[in-house]
Amino acid sequence: MRRIGVLTSGGDAPGMNACIRAVVKAAKVNNIETIGIYEGYKGLMEGNMKVLTTNYVDDIVELSGTVLKSARSKLFKTEEGLKLAKEQADKNGIEGLIVIGGDGSFRGACDVEKYGLPVIGIPGTIDNDIAGTEFSIGADTAVNIVTDTISKIHDTARSLIVDTPRVFLVEVMGRGCGYIAATSAIAGGADYCIVPEMPYDVNEMCAHLQRKFENGKVYSVVIVAEGAISVYELKKEVDSILNIDARASVLGHLQRGGAPTAFDRFIASQMGVKAVELLLEGKTNRMVGIVAGKAVDCDINQGINDKNKISEEVVKLNNILIS
Ligand code: ADP
Repeated sequence: MRRIGVLTSGGDAPGMNACIRAVVKAAKVNNIETIGIYEGYKGLMEGNMKVLTTNYVDDIVELSGTVLKSARSKLFKTEEGLKLAKEQADKNGIEGLIVIGGDGSFRGACDVEKYGLPVIGIPGTIDNDIAGTEFSIGADTAVNIVTDTISKIHDTARSLIVDTPRVFLVEVMGRGCGYIAATSAIAGGADYCIVPEMPYDVNEMCAHLQRKFENGKVYSVVIVAEGAISVYELKKEVDSILNIDARASVLGHLQRGGAPTAFDRFIASQMGVKAVELLLEGKTNRMVGIVAGKAVDCDINQGINDKNKISEEVVKLNNILIS
């Protein structure tokens, strides 16, 4: 093997650059060149790529987002697109492809693999919803950003004394997995947390908040994952049950920015190196993950078909800490 390709695809996530750096360095120590493919599969089909030097990647580790840019491409989902991608890979001497992205990107990797290009997937998504790994690149940074934001809400909420207790409702990312919500609720000291994996009852939640107010609390912070209920829907219900004007915030894309945490940079580096090793061993259609602190691999279909859910332990922990 003389040359491999690396691309970032789908939703960007902080830490992807640390992963790109690790791929380039691990390839270099094995005398392999790494070609960086810009704008995900779109760039692969268009031949938008260039060789990445170790000098260049040395300066990117602390940058958020992805220096290779990311994109979504409909053409790539067609036979025409896949053929174009394989043609460009051959033309540029790419003998193996590392795809950093989410489950959609992994599906795309499996499709192009059928045309004879070995592929390895690395999970990069702040939602932490990909099975086969305990952590995806970017999830830790997102949790830190949300936790920091909750602290800021606490700062203002505890300072302004008003006649009636106030409720702050904060919507965070997580369509099917409440990882960001549950983890930041625990770390940020929230009074309630709603996740897509668990049934919830707004009446019960309001009764819980009301008890806190009766015990002297002057405000409450509720974290809600976007996949469970929209914060505006929740506000309507809370307002009518408690007869208040709750404050609703949607953190949105704030959660995808910011310098990657050391932890994200570290696991991204572990996974980047592991992905190169797998290609060198002649493996394909594998996904890299982090389990018990180590970089491991599994069938890429596990990452596509199964979803991470928050653990019973985290649910129990949350229940204790909101009490
Ligand atoms: P993510 O990787 O974050 O889940 P997307 O689902 O948008 O993001 O996928 C990123 C890209 O991967 C898509 O724009 C498309 O080019 C490719 N892709 C997604 N799903 C498929 C699929 N079923 N078959 C082929 N390519 C796919």
